[in-house]
Amino acid sequence: MQFDLDVTGRKVVVLGSVSGSRRAVARFVRGGARVTLASTDGPPSVRLDTVRYTEAPAADDRSGLLRLVGPAWLVVSVDPPAVLRDRVAELTGHLRVMTTTEAPAESAGSVTLVGGGPGRTGLLTLEAVEALAAADAVFYDRLAPTDDLAGLAPAAELVDVGKSPFHHRVEQRSIEEQLIDRALAGQCVVRLKGGDPFVFGRGGEEMLACLAAGVRVRVVPGVSSAVAVPAACGIPVTHRGLSHAFTVISGHQRPSEAELDGLTRLGGTIVVLMGIVNLEQIAVGLLRAGMDPTTPAAVVERAYSDSQRSTFSRLGTLAADARRLQVSSPAVVVIGAVVGVAPELADAARLIDHLPEWAGALSPDDAPLDRSGQ
Ligand code: SAH
Repeated sequence: MQFDLDVTGRKVVVLGSVSGSRRAVARFVRGGARVTLASTDGPPSVRLDTVRYTEAPAADDRSGLLRLVGPAWLVVSVDPPAVLRDRVAELTGHLRVMTTTEAPAESAGSVTLVGGGPGRTGLLTLEAVEALAAADAVFYDRLAPTDDLAGLAPAAELVDVGKSPFHHRVEQRSIEEQLIDRALAGQCVVRLKGGDPFVFGRGGEEMLACLAAGVRVRVVPGVSSAVAVPAACGIPVTHRGLSHAFTVISGHQRPSEAELDGLTRLGGTIVVLMGIVNLEQIAVGLLRAGMDPTTPAAVVERAYSDSQRSTFSRLGTLAADARRLQVSSPAVVVIGAVVGVAPELADAARLIDHLPEWAGALSPDDAPLDRSGQ
């Protein structure tokens, strides 16, 4: 069982090695406690102003132990030798001082590339939450779920490396260097990204950079916006009888004629990420490649936020609708018959969390999509 306690102003004694205790120390300091680290392995190389440091007494030094734990409100045993841990537990039991144990922070540095999903805290995976809880530092992006980050990573230094579109080329190398430097210094570093780290997230590059520098690296996949953003307004990327394939493309660069041709011939659903800047070129290119202008299409902006908006249209009018409504990034564009499934949910709209005023965004002279999406 777990319960929350306010530690503000409380005297908390953390008992253990400097490195193993660093996460507990950081968390209690962040929580506002008055923290003493009773070190079992000598003084720390770096001292924090907010922490009192002392050497842990020997297990048979009863008066030293009493002086240490007597005034404490809470004693946190991290990794002291078993005999010392038992002795402290015995004393705190007599004194009715609360005690708890905590696993030591990892001593070897590492980088964990964490997919944060499309922006809502609830769409983080359990493994992502675990990685954040264990982090000494979190480097996070603009589209990562940041609302509850301080609580999810209570021991971590939070570093905003938010990139807005077109402004990341210079920074990437420096982000990699910072991740590597910190991991080599022994920190557990989390690189928190929007969606999945390996879907247009440069996660592969960061993984290779870490490996090249001899840094341990792990990947926690995330819920990709390629699937989750259409779902936010009731669009399934595949649907029996309508689409048995979906292609995810980046609209960051204009697709080539060959790509547009291939997409048109493949059929199925087209999902475009980072597609707003080149939306017109993509839509016109698909029409030129022979795609039916009446193909249903939608743009879903800022999914899972309070300002989520979905615009339903057709390929032939998509770019004009998007311009008229001043559609902006971040947004996912979906093209294909599956878009027609969303209106089928109209009756159930009130039952679906986050289903927006999807029909309201249709231009008045647009024929409403028929139910089959044909
Ligand atoms: N790795 C991410 C994608 C990064 S590219 C993933 O797997 O989701 C960034 C693009 O993702 C944005 O330009 C936009 O197209 C899309 N995106 C991410 N989060 C979004 C959101 N909450 N709403 C709409 N689009 C989003």
